[in-house]
Parts: sequence; structure tokens; C-alpha cells
Amino acid sequence: MNKEKDISCSFCGRKKNEVMILIAGIDSHICEKCVAQAQQIIDEEVTQQDDQFDFTLPKDVKPIDIYNYLQEYVIGQEEAKRAISVAVYNHYKRISQKFDSDIDIEKANIAMVGETGTGKTLIAKSIANFLNVPFAIVDATVFTEAGYVGEDVESILSRLLQAANYDVKAAQKGIVYVDEIDKVARKGDNPSVTRDVSGEGVQQSLLKLLEGAEVSVPAQGGRKHPEQKMIKVDTSNILFICGGAFDGLERVIAKRLQTQVIGYGAQKNKENIDKKNMLQYVSPQDLRSFGLIPEIIGRLPVLTHLHPLDQEALKAILREPKNALIKQYQKLFELDGIQLEFEEDALDFIVEKAEEFKLGARGLRSILEAVMTDAMFDLPSKGDVSQFNVDLQYAKEKLDSSKMKKLKAA
Ligand code: ADP
Repeated sequence: MNKEKDISCSFCGRKKNEVMILIAGIDSHICEKCVAQAQQIIDEEVTQQDDQFDFTLPKDVKPIDIYNYLQEYVIGQEEAKRAISVAVYNHYKRISQKFDSDIDIEKANIAMVGETGTGKTLIAKSIANFLNVPFAIVDATVFTEAGYVGEDVESILSRLLQAANYDVKAAQKGIVYVDEIDKVARKGDNPSVTRDVSGEGVQQSLLKLLEGAEVSVPAQGGRKHPEQKMIKVDTSNILFICGGAFDGLERVIAKRLQTQVIGYGAQKNKENIDKKNMLQYVSPQDLRSFGLIPEIIGRLPVLTHLHPLDQEALKAILREPKNALIKQYQKLFELDGIQLEFEEDALDFIVEKAEEFKLGARGLRSILEAVMTDAMFDLPSKGDVSQFNVDLQYAKEKLDSSKMKKLKAA
């Protein structure tokens, strides 16, 4: 009995009667206070390790590795892939630098201009996959200034938090793709005197996020209201990639180039301009003429462009990327024991139709779906089919009888 009274915590020496709980080990004891303290030390240590993990690129990754990864998924778009590989590399290098550094490398968010369906979202998504960081896609058209019907710009961060399973630290090093950034451009070249609900006000709120700010975000997303739990998110290390089709930007660029090429050597320069693809000459001042405010443009220092996809590129998109559409359909059929093949002229036909729809590579999927639906419905129940060939005649027939054809005629 005496012995029992004498036992004490082997860590702090407190006697049994001085503590609430003494946990016995093989030949020692620990009290609840020391357990708590030990837990605190563990937490701090783990957080520090998390921090280190949070702010480093996967080991030994160089821009070429990012580019090579993009290469597996994205056809063409060389300039964009190179520019973005460098920008992403620099971004993660920047956020892994020690905070006592005397040179503060500024955040370089990215702007991409290019027609719809040319791979802007795909590039952003692939980058996030490669780095294994939380990723959110948001559409700038749904945002309005606080107080108006629509979503607050802060809801971008709610989406990112969701993507990060509410791990704030992970979200803070994530990537956000803001689509249709061109739709929040100010209409016309003059600042509007009336309140511009969907334009400049939204750009101003977006600016705050791009620059880096501590923002209180409704945990559940949606509008802020008093009872809602708020989470603080620091956007300084979030990489924003803004993309848009910028309809009409070609004219702005052409106008600028026209004025520039007057004078010495003008004729020669004019000849070198590729009129079919004006977006490749985009410069920050064009975005300004288009209606983005200078502060936003300043926060998007990496400006790159995507090319329109020609038939060759569309055909390559059908079969070459790692998860190419053709490969996906082949896999689906293979699961039913059917070997699926597409003949060359059937693919050419699909590509021609996609070009007619003017949806970039986005059209490929719907056309293929229209062509393949009947086969996907009928073949699995037939049982005796082990091979299926899609030739030109079959593709034409199926597309002609589909709703897509009717839509187009309308
Ligand atoms: P947007 O430029 O409008 O953001 P997306 O990146 O969303 O276009 O492209 C739509 C779909 O088209 C993608 O899911 C992808 O399958 C395909 N696609 C578009 N461009 C390319 C490309 N350059 N390489 C491979 N696939 C592409």
C-alpha cells in the first residue's frame, strides 16, 4: 500500500496525490500534465514538418519535367506549355524560399488567351494534377460585387477549400483557374461613371485575391451571413491562372500592330504578321484596351496565348493524349470484350465536323458520343461481337440521325 502512495510521474516527478491520472508504463509512469505537454510538442513538430512539405516542389522537379508532363496530355500549344512550366516552377520556388530572404520575389499569376476548347482549362488542371495540389475552377461570369445577386468573389476560396478537404494550409498553396476572365472586362475603353455590377467592381475584388490577402471565407460557401462559420485563408501563395477567349481581341491587336508598323520597315513587318492567328501577338496593353483594369494586368505578369486547333491537332487530340477520347471508348468496349477500331476517314470526318461546330476540341466529345451511342447501347447485349469497326459511312449515318445534326440545322 505504501509503495502505491510513493509512485510519481517519471517525467515531472509529481506524486500520485498531486496529479489526476498516472499512467503506468513497463517501469515508469506519466501524469496527464506531461501527456498534454508531450502532445503539444508533437503537434508543433508535425506542423513545422507540414510547413516544410507545404512549400516545396516535388524533389528535383525542373521546368522541363512540368513541360514533359503537360506534353502527355496537351497537344500543341508549345508557347503556352513552356511559359506555364517556367511560371509554375518559379511560383513554387518563390513560396519555398525562406522568409528572411532580402529579395522578395513577387507572385506571378498567369493569364492565358485563346479560343474556347483549345486547352486552357486542361493545362491548368494538368499542372495541379502534376503537383498534387488542391485545384478549383471558377467562372468569372457568376461573380458580382458584394451586395448584388450572384456570388461573391471570395467564393473562389470556398471552392478551393472544398477541393482541399478544408485543409487550409493545403488550400493556401493551391491553384485556381478563373475561366472567362474576359467577361468581367469593362465595356468600352472609358471607366464607367455608373456602377458596373459585373465588370470593374468584380475586377477590383478579384485584384485583392490575386495580390495576396487574408480573406475570411464562409466555410460552407455561398453568401456571407452572420451565423456562418468563417475560415481565414491567405491568398499570397495561391497561384491564379486566368483564362479567356477574349472575343474581339484580335481587332485590338491588329489595330495596335497597324499603328506600330507605320514607318521604317513597315512593309516588311506587315508581311510577317500571321493574320489567321492574331492572339499570338497579344501584349498587356491589348488587355487594357479590351477592358481589364491596369492593376489586374499588373498582377498577371505571365501572359501567354493558345493557338486555334487545326484539323491535324484535332485528330491528334482524338488519339494521342494519355487519356485520349478514342482510348477511352476503346477501354469502355474492351470491358465488354469488344475490340473497337476507328478507320482513318471516320476520324477525318469527325474532325471536320468538330471544326464546323467551332467549339475547338470541345466538340469532339459530343460528336463521338453521337456516333457511338447506338453501338454502346446495342453491342453489350449481343454477346457474340468481339470486334467493332467505325468506318466513314457508319460515322456519317449516326451523326446524321442524331440530334446534333438537327441542332446545327436550326
Ligand atoms: P478551354 O480552352 O475552353 O478551357 P478546355 O481545356 O476545357 O478548353 O478543353 C476542352 C476539352 O478539349 C478538354 O477536356 C480536352 O479533352 C480537349 N482539349 C482541348 N484542347 C486540347 C489540347 N490542346 N490538347 C488535348 N486536348 C485538348
